[in-house]
Amino acid sequence: MDFHLTAEQTQFRDSVLRFARNELAGKALERAHAPGYPWEVAKRMAAQGLLGITIPEADGGQGGTLLDAVLAIEAVATACPRSADVVQAGNFGPIRVLAQYGSALQKKTYLSRLLAGESVIAVGMTEPEAGSAVTDLKTTAQRVEGGYRINGAKIFTTHSAYAEVFLAYVRFGPGVGGIGSVLLERSSEGVRVGKKSHFMSGEEWAELHFADVFVPEDRLLLGEGGFKKQIAGFNVERIGNAARSLALGRHAYETARAWALQRRQFGRLLCEFQGLQWKFAEMKMKLDAAQLLLYRAAANADRGFPSAEETAIAKAYCNQAGFDVANEALQVMGGTGYSQETLVEYCLRRCRGWMIAGGSIEILKNRIAEHIFERSFSQR
Ligand SMILES: Cc1cc2nc3c(=O)[nH]c(=O)nc-3n(C[C@H](O)[C@H](O)[C@H](O)COP(=O)(O)OP(=O)(O)OC[C@H]3O[C@@H](n4cnc5c(N)ncnc54)[C@H](O)[C@@H]3O)c2cc1C
Repeated sequence: MDFHLTAEQTQFRDSVLRFARNELAGKALERAHAPGYPWEVAKRMAAQGLLGITIPEADGGQGGTLLDAVLAIEAVATACPRSADVVQAGNFGPIRVLAQYGSALQKKTYLSRLLAGESVIAVGMTEPEAGSAVTDLKTTAQRVEGGYRINGAKIFTTHSAYAEVFLAYVRFGPGVGGIGSVLLERSSEGVRVGKKSHFMSGEEWAELHFADVFVPEDRLLLGEGGFKKQIAGFNVERIGNAARSLALGRHAYETARAWALQRRQFGRLLCEFQGLQWKFAEMKMKLDAAQLLLYRAAANADRGFPSAEETAIAKAYCNQAGFDVANEALQVMGGTGYSQETLVEYCLRRCRGWMIAGGSIEILKNRIAEHIFERSFSQR
């Protein structure tokens, strides 16, 4: 077993680090507090080949591995935590599901703008009455001539404020087997953006209402029976989510480490107090453990989708570790950590959300238990 990156992986990570330090670090603080999507970053990343890292070259991507994309998130977040979201959107989320299952026409229509950093795609799974119990979703797709009529509502959708297209989970019939997905354009008649709100992270989200929205036949992504395939693809999103928890936890840790090496109290540097040294030792152990679990899940996936079990373990652990580390980093920095002079409080707020988004820690632990006991446990 080799715990080292290959020469190519090291070279790739270092090139992303250079890009991030030179082009993104300068405005990192400003970007974290700015509303909206960082389109200027998306365009620069497209030019740098950081969107579509795992998407085949034939589809306009880079043909790399999932671990390459994880390395990119980590390197970018070192310099600019907010910009890690652009790596996520361009590699891990619904874009990857579209690249995997989409028809030639669907890819031609949407992928080029997504990979150019000119557009984002959002995934609409969650509904007012279907959160953790996502298979309870009620949004219907009714067969009509030439396509489908979609009726329902989605909430908490990341990028809902500006996404051009939604990968919407819909119900064609009863039960889990009746669930599939369509590509639904924001500009379609019957799409209404409802009440707007903000997450604790500052990100805006809006309710999405679909009233008799017509989706042509050729925008069907996965029909009835597609739910399992969708969730297999969603595990890639979870890896990106885990990678951001780890990366933002590490950003907070590095900021606190630098602080402890120069801040003096009682005539001594903070790093000389054993009570704080132990906090740093705990932080470092959590970050290292989280990184190993994340790399295992990503490396084993190679160019395919990651295993459900390894993904659940990596995400649950990284989500908790990222939050715990950012929280301790903030504590070590005192009032400065709690203020917006650095990105530590931002990293804490972001990490908190990933403990809920994309499969909460509790739901992931339910999945892990099913693997442990080799049986499923109905939550109903
Ligand atoms: C930052 C952020 C971004 C998001 N982005 C998106 C997005 O892009 N697209 C999208 O579709 N959704 C998105 N979501 C929604 C997210 O997927 C849901 O919030 C999540 O699935 C939980 O659903 P809920 O909020 O309705 O909580 P509930 O399902 O009501 O759960 C409440 C609490 O109960 C726990 N719980 C529920 N059932 C069980 C059980 N069986 N065993 C143990 N504990 C349980 C949960 O873990 C949670 O702590 C996002 C959420 C956040 C916070």
